[in-house]
Amino acid sequence: MTTPLDPRRTIAELKELRQLTADADGAQRIAFTPTWVKTREWLKSKLAALPVETHADAAGNLWSTLKGRSEKAVLLGGHMDSVPNGGWLDGCLNVLAAVEVLRRIDAQYDHVPPVTVRLVDWADEEGARFGKSLFGSSACSGNLDLDEARRLVDKEGIRLPDALANVGIAFEKVKDSHRELASAAAYLELHIEQGPVLLDLDLPLGVVLGTFGVERHAITFHGQAAHSGSTPMNRRKDAFLAAARMSPETYAITGRHGGVGTIGSCTTKPGIVTSVVEDCRITLDQRNLDAKALAASLAEARAASERFAREGGVEVAWERLWNIEPVLFDPRLLGFCEEAIVETCGKVHRLPSGPLHDAAEVARAGVPTVMMFVQSLHGISHNKIEDTKEEHLELCVAAFDKLAEKTIRALA
Ligand SMILES: [Zn+2]
Repeated sequence: MTTPLDPRRTIAELKELRQLTADADGAQRIAFTPTWVKTREWLKSKLAALPVETHADAAGNLWSTLKGRSEKAVLLGGHMDSVPNGGWLDGCLNVLAAVEVLRRIDAQYDHVPPVTVRLVDWADEEGARFGKSLFGSSACSGNLDLDEARRLVDKEGIRLPDALANVGIAFEKVKDSHRELASAAAYLELHIEQGPVLLDLDLPLGVVLGTFGVERHAITFHGQAAHSGSTPMNRRKDAFLAAARMSPETYAITGRHGGVGTIGSCTTKPGIVTSVVEDCRITLDQRNLDAKALAASLAEARAASERFAREGGVEVAWERLWNIEPVLFDPRLLGFCEEAIVETCGKVHRLPSGPLHDAAEVARAGVPTVMMFVQSLHGISHNKIEDTKEEHLELCVAAFDKLAEKTIRALA
């Protein structure tokens, strides 16, 4: 039997979407805006050719269901929203590949697959407007903090609940979205890598092991302001000196424990050219797939900061800004994903995801989950230059389809 899967159609549809929703600066599908609403209408018109039931849930996530012989559902997910001036693939590749896979399944099983297959387009994955990413998927997983979300405002001063009301979503009910996961048996998501790992290995596709756990802290060193001319070097309580030693230390820690570590900001007081620094506040962002390694990295950074403070005659205080535990994907689905990639292009690499994805929320809700990455050119996204070779786009649709089929057969 010839397969009706047509990856070239996915590429054509991605281009059609770009035509419809991008300008000279890139994609403009910001969630809950008129362009996003238009994007949804366009997506629904594509789905309308299939015998699916399509509706938006309480959080604005769009679900399109091809009913199977069993209620058990395989979910294929992505997000149509983009950051302002975004790329042509981030999020929508996942959804449009899923549309193509649905077409193949519908044709192959004569409209009734052995298990139910559902496409989900998550609402506001990017959080570009309100600064809260994974909105729709965290409402669905139950992890959304309603009190925090209720207070979010965009830069025009519009509150998130009002922006949602504008597109017909009742803020206080968004967590009702959780019922959509009732019969979910697996969640599969394809995504561009958004980093340079597969590019550097010259591999088109990778299996994603999970998403990094994150520890994000502010570290403030407190010394003493003193005249830069009259204070001898051995008499200084220089908060900046102690803080600066954290930079090479951060590299050394990731050298020992893996993952990544970033000092992303540094502010000094009084912050004038003629004074020794009294206060220096830096931020530390540590990420690791291994919870123990993440905890050890954090403990070592803390111990180092205390040592540098002591040696420099200054004080140090820590403040946790945010943290999340690592999310590991399902071992059986990881195996299917690896097989699908090897069957498609012969070679595979396993890698963690630095960025968070909707898949992490679904996994946290207890649904067995896996992601597949396709190589990103330039290792860049959230930018109009974001790109992936068309031959790799074709391969990823084919491999994602194989992953879906293996999952369906395992659950049937
Ligand atoms: Zn994305």
